[in-house]
Amino acid sequence: MRNVGIIGGGIAGLTCAYKLAAEGHAVTVYEASKYVGGLGVDFDHKGNSIDKFYHVLLDSDRYLVNLLQEMGLASKLLWAPTGMGFMVKEKLYPFNTPVDLLRFKALPFLDRVRTGLAALYITKQKNGFPLDDIPATDWLKRLFGQTVYQNIWDPLLAAKFGERRGEIPAYWVWNTLTREKDGTQEVKGYVVGGYRYIAETIATNVQKLGGNIQCGVPVDTLDQLEVGMSVCAGGTVRRHDAVISTLPMTLLRGIVNSPLLEKLPLANLKYQGCLNVVLVLKKRLSPYYWIAVVDSGFSFQGVVETTHVVPPESVSGRHIVYVMNYGATDLPAYLMSDQEACFRAETELCRLFPQLTAADIEASYAFRAPFVEPVWPLGYLRVRAAPKVTGTDLYLCTTAQAYPMVTAWNTSVYLAMETVNAMRPFLS
Ligand SMILES: Cc1cc2nc3c(=O)[nH]c(=O)nc-3n(C[C@H](O)[C@H](O)[C@H](O)COP(=O)(O)OP(=O)(O)OC[C@H]3O[C@@H](n4cnc5c(N)ncnc54)[C@H](O)[C@@H]3O)c2cc1C
Repeated sequence: MRNVGIIGGGIAGLTCAYKLAAEGHAVTVYEASKYVGGLGVDFDHKGNSIDKFYHVLLDSDRYLVNLLQEMGLASKLLWAPTGMGFMVKEKLYPFNTPVDLLRFKALPFLDRVRTGLAALYITKQKNGFPLDDIPATDWLKRLFGQTVYQNIWDPLLAAKFGERRGEIPAYWVWNTLTREKDGTQEVKGYVVGGYRYIAETIATNVQKLGGNIQCGVPVDTLDQLEVGMSVCAGGTVRRHDAVISTLPMTLLRGIVNSPLLEKLPLANLKYQGCLNVVLVLKKRLSPYYWIAVVDSGFSFQGVVETTHVVPPESVSGRHIVYVMNYGATDLPAYLMSDQEACFRAETELCRLFPQLTAADIEASYAFRAPFVEPVWPLGYLRVRAAPKVTGTDLYLCTTAQAYPMVTAWNTSVYLAMETVNAMRPFLS
């Protein structure tokens, strides 16, 4: 039996803990905040639990679905058909079917046809690997043409990666498009009780297997010993045979010293942050789960209405809408005050959706996540970190290894399995 310390009680850390504990190893999870769940945390609105950041499953999330089954949560997983809208110059278009595309008057007719053909070509391309060295901006311009790129893709890429969009590999875009759109009716899933409930259920199962979950205990320092590692957390120093870090690399660098620091990969990896404003509404906003908003004088990049998937009864009949800004964390779009973010979200949504009035908005809240996703540089497959940090007893299971998959709970479950598999020689 091995004794493994795990830093971070989000989905990655909890899944690693569960897999190791199920094989009879002693695990200790160190979680800085009061609750497990990481970015899947919730907040309370008048006795209702609401996710701080919108979270749903896709029907392609097979690793997470399998884990939910193992946790006995399958019967709580609900699926609902969803759709996407596109707002251009304050006009909202449906954007789900070939007919929607042909009617999408924001583009000249020939460009609509070209967009359809290019999208079809992308979904038929089975291997995106060669796209790892090609900038997404060049690839999209070539496939869709300058007009479509300028009007659709550039704002979407800018929304996700800001000034660094020219560096993102086409492989990431290809993978995201083929993951989300396969031509069939889009559905999304949600576990009744929310994402923190999923995390707490995994944590309970870890504890039943003898694992130790310590919340409110941030790891202050991590050091390599002659054999094994030492973790200093909550004023106590403990030795572990090995440690798994699930932290973003920037945070991990902050708790390790030389010579371990020099052994860590991905020294220059930058991350995107995300500002979310959550609006609690008395009525439905639109027919769509997600609306991309372009060229409409909106301070945010899009609108997500989760109560197309989350049953409104679970939030006492309310409708929950998120507006978001992804980007660098030193930009005004991320740094604006909570008050300003909520004010802009409320007033601008009322302008863009005239059926919504201030009286329909019960409350709004702003939340920030500084490390949502790395800004993937070109050729990332060549530098993607292996699960084991060479010459140490440290293993990684972090979103920095997600590429080309999108950062999501399903991906973290997959990464946890990959990390535990990489530990096999050490575990046996
Ligand atoms: C706006 C938004 C929308 C999203 N939508 C979806 C979605 O629809 N579906 C989906 O599947 N995913 C979604 N995601 C992505 C998903 O939340 C992440 O990919 C996932 O949570 C990553 O899990 P993780 O365990 O790697 O990291 P995290 O969830 O970030 O967990 C890391 C944990 O480490 C803890 N920690 C940090 N420092 C220390 C320390 N020194 N010591 C101990 N603990 C520490 C943190 O408190 C945290 O709990 C979304 C994310 C955001 C921000």
